[in-house]
Amino acid sequence: MADVPPARPPKQDLYCVLDNMVGLYYDTDMEKHKSTDDDHQENPERTRAIWNKLKAEGILKRKSCVLIKGKQATDEHLSFVHTREHMSFIDNPKKRSQRYKNCIMEQVYFNAGSSLAARLAAGGAVEVARQVVDKEINSGFAIVRPPGHHAEPDGCKGFCLYNNIAVAASFLLEERAHCVQRILIVDWDIHHGNGTQRKFYNDNRVLYFSIHRYGDFYPYTEDGSLDKIGDGNGTGFNINVPWDRAKRSNADYLAVMDHVLLPVARVFKPDIVLVSAGFDAAKDDPIGDCVVTAEGFADMLKKLRELAGGKVVLVLEGGYGPDYLADCVLACVEVLTQAKESKTSHGCPHGETYDLIKLVRETLSPHWPVLKAPVLAWEADEEQLDKAAEAATRIFRRLDDLITEFAKLMKEFRLLGESLVESLKAGSKPGSGGSSV
Ligand SMILES: [Zn+2]
Repeated sequence: MADVPPARPPKQDLYCVLDNMVGLYYDTDMEKHKSTDDDHQENPERTRAIWNKLKAEGILKRKSCVLIKGKQATDEHLSFVHTREHMSFIDNPKKRSQRYKNCIMEQVYFNAGSSLAARLAAGGAVEVARQVVDKEINSGFAIVRPPGHHAEPDGCKGFCLYNNIAVAASFLLEERAHCVQRILIVDWDIHHGNGTQRKFYNDNRVLYFSIHRYGDFYPYTEDGSLDKIGDGNGTGFNINVPWDRAKRSNADYLAVMDHVLLPVARVFKPDIVLVSAGFDAAKDDPIGDCVVTAEGFADMLKKLRELAGGKVVLVLEGGYGPDYLADCVLACVEVLTQAKESKTSHGCPHGETYDLIKLVRETLSPHWPVLKAPVLAWEADEEQLDKAAEAATRIFRRLDDLITEFAKLMKEFRLLGESLVESLKAGSKPGSGGSSV
């Protein structure tokens, strides 16, 4: 079995908050980070649409919601993840212009507001996580941009400047070690979170789970393959579930959660769950080309709330259709506030999803024995298929028999007819002894 870090002292398990308070972090200064290209997909309209939606739905006035103001990440907190050179590069416009060509290649842009926005994004993730573990709120959503999960310790990448969720997780491990020893990071953004994986690849205190498109898809590396399971102490603590094609649905995502993530997470017993909440797997997203709905994301989050006593922090990553992005975030906030109970049927996963689940389970089962157990629903489906195949074979055999029998009867009938004709011919000859009445 994977070498899971020791459990917290028992007194820490007595976590109890009377009210279900949800923190929502947002700051309009993050909108100052803006490309000169008006059509750029990572733009201020994304978070603006989310905030306006939450306002229009009356979420911000709910007693259970706490609005958390902007807070910039400190040098100390950023340095838990990033090199000093990287931080200096983000802060210093002169250095940025020197490396601007490289930034274009890495799909990153900068303007005068970028440094502040990046610190507010990382600081927001830290602040919401801090408030949860300090029991000021139960759960929260850091509505931040620029996103973070592609940012590497020493470089920007894929619209990301600082790795917001990695900074928050590192802050908890460094400064809240008395109550946080195990963190689950669930990355359901359609892209692989290469930066987060790299930061915690050797660390058994962080179980990193990513479900993403793979192959001819950003970031176009092999880091997101299913055999990248961690290294050293972290072996078995990095789980990649790579889709090799588009159009993955709610049913596909939920099947992976049920048969891969949740069995492992229940053994791991995280003290807190952090979600790299990208919504570019959503239907109509201009980048992801998948068909997950707001209800699908909500149901995934409901499953995660069963872990860590419901201590869940979502940190916004991708999602590039502002209107539906806002719907998805609203659905998740409704789950955190437990305001709506709904049951949605999500249909059946694709056949390839079960093949992938089987492969991931086989790869990880040496480290997580719980994954050696058979997947009941899956076997039941196979049994049904076998039974249906047997029934079809029986029907075809019977049809075959009937056709043979019918041909035989037809042959006999023809012979009978021929013999009757012969008899009639013979009986009609003159003087043959025929009689008449
Ligand atoms: Zn993404």
